[in-house]
Amino acid sequence: MSAESRGSKRIGSKQPGRGSHVAELKFEPALLINGRWDGSTSARTFAVDDPSTHEVLAELPFAGAADTEKAIAAAARAFETWKRTSALERADLLLKLAQLIGEFREPLAELTVLEQGMPIAAARGGVDYALSFFRWFAEEARRLYGETISHPDPTRKLIVEHFPRGVVGVITPWNGPLSAPAKKIAAALAAGCTIVMKPSELTPLSALALGWLARQVGFPPGTVNIVSGDAPQIGRALLRHPAVRTISFTGSLRTGRYLYTRAARQIKHVVLELGGNAPFIVFADADLDRAANDLIALKKSNSGQVCVAANRVLVERAVFDEFQSLVLARYSRLPVGDGFTVQVEQGPLITSQAADRVDELVRDALASGAAALCGAKRSELGPNFYPPTVLNSAPPTCRMVKEEIFGPVISLMSFKTEAEAIALANVTPHRLAAYAYSTNLERGWRMAKELDFGVVGINDPRPITCEAPFGGNCQAGIGREGGRSGLLEYLDSRLIGFRG
Ligand code: ADP
Repeated sequence: MSAESRGSKRIGSKQPGRGSHVAELKFEPALLINGRWDGSTSARTFAVDDPSTHEVLAELPFAGAADTEKAIAAAARAFETWKRTSALERADLLLKLAQLIGEFREPLAELTVLEQGMPIAAARGGVDYALSFFRWFAEEARRLYGETISHPDPTRKLIVEHFPRGVVGVITPWNGPLSAPAKKIAAALAAGCTIVMKPSELTPLSALALGWLARQVGFPPGTVNIVSGDAPQIGRALLRHPAVRTISFTGSLRTGRYLYTRAARQIKHVVLELGGNAPFIVFADADLDRAANDLIALKKSNSGQVCVAANRVLVERAVFDEFQSLVLARYSRLPVGDGFTVQVEQGPLITSQAADRVDELVRDALASGAAALCGAKRSELGPNFYPPTVLNSAPPTCRMVKEEIFGPVISLMSFKTEAEAIALANVTPHRLAAYAYSTNLERGWRMAKELDFGVVGINDPRPITCEAPFGGNCQAGIGREGGRSGLLEYLDSRLIGFRG
């Protein structure tokens, strides 16, 4: 079935003021396989809707195992040529893609707001962040040096070289519709790998737009393939195909654990970015104003739906009341609404089920003895909205302390000593990010050493950038994205011996 024969090809909103630039992105509501827009073999479709208004934005083919196998075959064929290109050739294309993403900044940002709901200013930042990875990996790929090693026998020489591993199965979540795919495909393409990507069915449009842009700048057919639809079937096809040598996933611990277990059957390499449960520690010697602002910046980002959002705010008892007042005054007044309204700083949650879950966590904390200082009830704006909520003293046994909240809730708890703060912070196995605020340099160093997380921000709410390795410890994941490490995830090292 061609893309043309499937129902509506319209993508975007019919309502005025909701993404008028999106039409500049000329991608099809289709699968992208071997450089062509394609339908699914099942002829089934699924709808993508706007979390703010519930308007249907597009109907997409519902891909299954056969479509995924077709995409893998295309990626495997393309790999035979792509792996032989020079780093410079790949860098040129990646830089052109970065440039084009910049040219389409506004349509891409609008598309993010439409399918994901975040405020337009945040969505623009998301486009810039996505772009930065293409530029970074273009530059980094050219600086991928091997090693020469002395052999104890002087007639021999050892060389270590890096080679692209093969097809990468990329599986991404809905909370970074453009940046999550960008991080992974920029690194994999720079390394010389080819890709079969499955974006979240809730937000597949930004990934398709990225696929279209990649095609526009001349990435060869088959280097980037995109399928979305039946997640378990697509996942199984990626896991069982021997040409797929890496699974790069961002999402829940549950899915990550499943993919890791199945990938083990063929000893596939995995990169797993799973959830976090970030402590945000505020010491009495912190700049409280700055700490409160940074906390709110972290929580309002994507309505708290980010894996590095502060999940447990631990405040030294001596300044608890003061800090609580600062947070409450600012967070309770945060403008909530539709992402296209300029002054809005917090949009909807991705689905009404996501809002239901946040409400369940809040009810559970209140039933366990926490106090609600603001919010803590369903919003009148619609089923996907949840108001900024501040809770005090949720006990360690309640769900929101143990699980990722993934919503606009600040949960404040007090501590007495530094040792207690460290113990509370490190209690979670979801060790992605942690934050500590103190103006005492020595304490800052101690925190950097003691907080056992993949990312630690000392007076810094966002140490995350394309230049640096990002990833979690313990059950927060395996592998790193960004930095030099991000490139190495897609390369096999080869030891080559020469004997004279
Ligand atoms: P979340 O709960 O944040 O949506 P998930 O882990 O369910 O996290 O989803 C992240 C990504 O993983 C999405 O693209 C989703 O469709 C995909 N996914 C979920 N289950 C599977 C599976 N069994 N096989 C492959 N991909 C899956």
